[in-house]
Amino acid sequence: MTSTTPPELPGYAHVYSGKVRDLYAPLDDHGAPRDDLLLLVASDRMSAYDFVLDSPIPDKGAVLTQLSLWWFEQLADLVPNHVVSTEVPAEVAGRGVLVRRLDMLPVECVARAYLTGGGLGEYRADGHVSGVRLPDGLVDGSRLPEPVFTPSTKAPMGEHDQPMPYADVEHAVGVDLAARVRDLTTAILVRGNEIAADRGILIADTKVEFGRSGDDLVLADEVLTPDSSRFWPAELWEPGHPQPSYDKQYVRDWLTSTASGWDRSSGEAPPPLPADVVEQTRAKYVEAYERLTGRTFAP
Ligand code: ATP
Ligand code: MG
Repeated sequence: MTSTTPPELPGYAHVYSGKVRDLYAPLDDHGAPRDDLLLLVASDRMSAYDFVLDSPIPDKGAVLTQLSLWWFEQLADLVPNHVVSTEVPAEVAGRGVLVRRLDMLPVECVARAYLTGGGLGEYRADGHVSGVRLPDGLVDGSRLPEPVFTPSTKAPMGEHDQPMPYADVEHAVGVDLAARVRDLTTAILVRGNEIAADRGILIADTKVEFGRSGDDLVLADEVLTPDSSRFWPAELWEPGHPQPSYDKQYVRDWLTSTASGWDRSSGEAPPPLPADVVEQTRAKYVEAYERLTGRTFAP
């Protein structure tokens, strides 16, 4: 079964839907929405190039939620996370999580361990990524000497996230907090790569989000999933060209191929995905989950 539209959930008020997740507030004894908790439900919606595609990817929501829960545990000694409980209404079992409702920082915290995508574009322009000077001679897929923090703005729905100079992060959240989220973001990627290396996966880059609750800084949203990260099969890694990957790159490649008939610069919505692209994408998401966690995915 695929899940794309936010279900009505008795005992919860729907508060927001992002491109992929639906957020609900649990109702208290008086039927009023609580302000300290959220039910975060990952749907099977797929976003690419800032569009939500017409074609859902079956089981994607459950894969993202189960993988995030697994990573939150692996990272628990580095950073507290927002998870409260996985006891959720049966209708969203497996893809819903009850979380602490946080004041989200207005920053997409990106770290890169390998050079590709937008980071490669910046490097080719002037040898820097997010203000950090990199060695000469790097190519698509090169491993960086150490992970680099390359934050971006949280663009409103339908708009493109923009690179955010570190000074703007300091301005937005303060000097101390900026340094903490920078160090935590790169530490999460380093730890992620240590764990993934044993399982034959390289995590090229990733995006995390943090929120505040009083004085606490808490890791929120999703973490180290194929939606938020580039996962590369380690045995096929070969710098100098785009790498095969377990993430949504597969969908991106089809959309920008002649087969799709879609022109990215047209501003029009992309076409529906063919059944085999949907199935391949589902298989890649499930394989990433199974390789990383060592578990068998049970829908
Ligand atoms: P946008 O928010 O721009 O729609 P998105 O499309 O990536 O971004 P989703 O991932 O679909 O959004 O929705 C998740 C939303 O929930 C994000 O806005 C994220 O910041 C927010 N969020 C995640 N965890 C928490 C939390 N613990 N407390 C409050 N908000 C959270
Ligand atoms: Mg998101």
